[in-house]
Amino acid sequence: MTATSNANGKINLLGLTQPKMEAFFESLGEKRFRAGQVMKWIHHLGVDNFDDMTNVGKALREKLAAVAEIRPPEVVSEDISKDGTRKWVVRVASGSCVETVYIPQNGRGTLCVSSQAGCALDCSFCSTGKQGFNSDLTVAEIIGQVWIANKSFGSIPAKTDRAITNVVMMGMGEPLLNFDNVLDAMLLMMDDLGYGISKRKVTLSTSGVVPMIEKLGELTDVALALSLHAPNNALRNQLVPLNKKYPLEVLLPACNRYMAGLGEKRVLTIEYTMLKDVNDQPEHAEEMIELLRETPCKINLIPFNPFPHSGYERPSNNSIRRFQDMLHKAGYNVTVRTTRGEDIDAACGQLVGQVMDRTRRSERYIALRQLPVDGVPTATQPSNADR
Ligand code: SF4
Repeated sequence: MTATSNANGKINLLGLTQPKMEAFFESLGEKRFRAGQVMKWIHHLGVDNFDDMTNVGKALREKLAAVAEIRPPEVVSEDISKDGTRKWVVRVASGSCVETVYIPQNGRGTLCVSSQAGCALDCSFCSTGKQGFNSDLTVAEIIGQVWIANKSFGSIPAKTDRAITNVVMMGMGEPLLNFDNVLDAMLLMMDDLGYGISKRKVTLSTSGVVPMIEKLGELTDVALALSLHAPNNALRNQLVPLNKKYPLEVLLPACNRYMAGLGEKRVLTIEYTMLKDVNDQPEHAEEMIELLRETPCKINLIPFNPFPHSGYERPSNNSIRRFQDMLHKAGYNVTVRTTRGEDIDAACGQLVGQVMDRTRRSERYIALRQLPVDGVPTATQPSNADR
């Protein structure tokens, strides 16, 4: 099995970027223009059967069927929230399940896509992190989430009337730790033969893998979001343990360089999950104001969405408003993310899928949270030893 072939040895055309698709057709002794024809069938029209490709001759269709296939991840479930949010659980080749969420809002349709089954980074407030880590998703498994969502709305012949207008790599996993596959998938999202989404509307969200931010800037110009969550190193070390490796004084300049490299008036998005009495106090807002002075950005405050045994609570609306006002008065563009899809567990930070955990973190987490303290079961933070 190669990077692009499935267990049956067939190449999965769903995951091939345009240059790779052209190279594939050349390797078959066929003309390069076939790549465009087949990509339109796959991505625009949601076709997964060569026999349906009516402008491809029968002989070539048979040739393709012998060596290739179009295989999206298997859809385990699709739920639709009363607010229009949709959530898909899909099973990937490793056996784990990951989640994809579609959020319609204010004329936009944003698809939140997963990049890994589980996550190795163990952010203390994140339900995905508690599942441990299983595998990187392949290009086909990443773009397949877009394919599935897109197909559920019908085909996309018209650019003007698309259900999915934005994609955020903000689902399960740290996208920069699955760099090559995420990059190819994002190229397909932006390619007119793929999903034709503008580079401004494809956002990669990272917890701060600094060397990969540098590399990303050399290869693409998608929008960047930083999962900040804390205004100082001491607190961020607790919430986002990766901070111990790439602290704020290294991380923010790397983000600034990436944004400067885009050469346009585009700003970094700062994601800040608000945790009651942990990072929601006025002193934290003051620290944020100082910390981000040199970073052109917009700030997205995300009230914590509780999940069982998280150990954290959502702040009151008053403290969220107070925090927002302080940043706003200091000149920052600040929004508070509305919780969507709560009734189908699709809200931010609630994605859990079903990860075949290779790290044994989920096992330890379950054991730890059951340890009684003064006779009361408690939510204890899991060990970071396996990072
Ligand atoms: S917040 Fe993101 S990087 Fe952190 S554990 Fe969750 S999925 Fe991983």
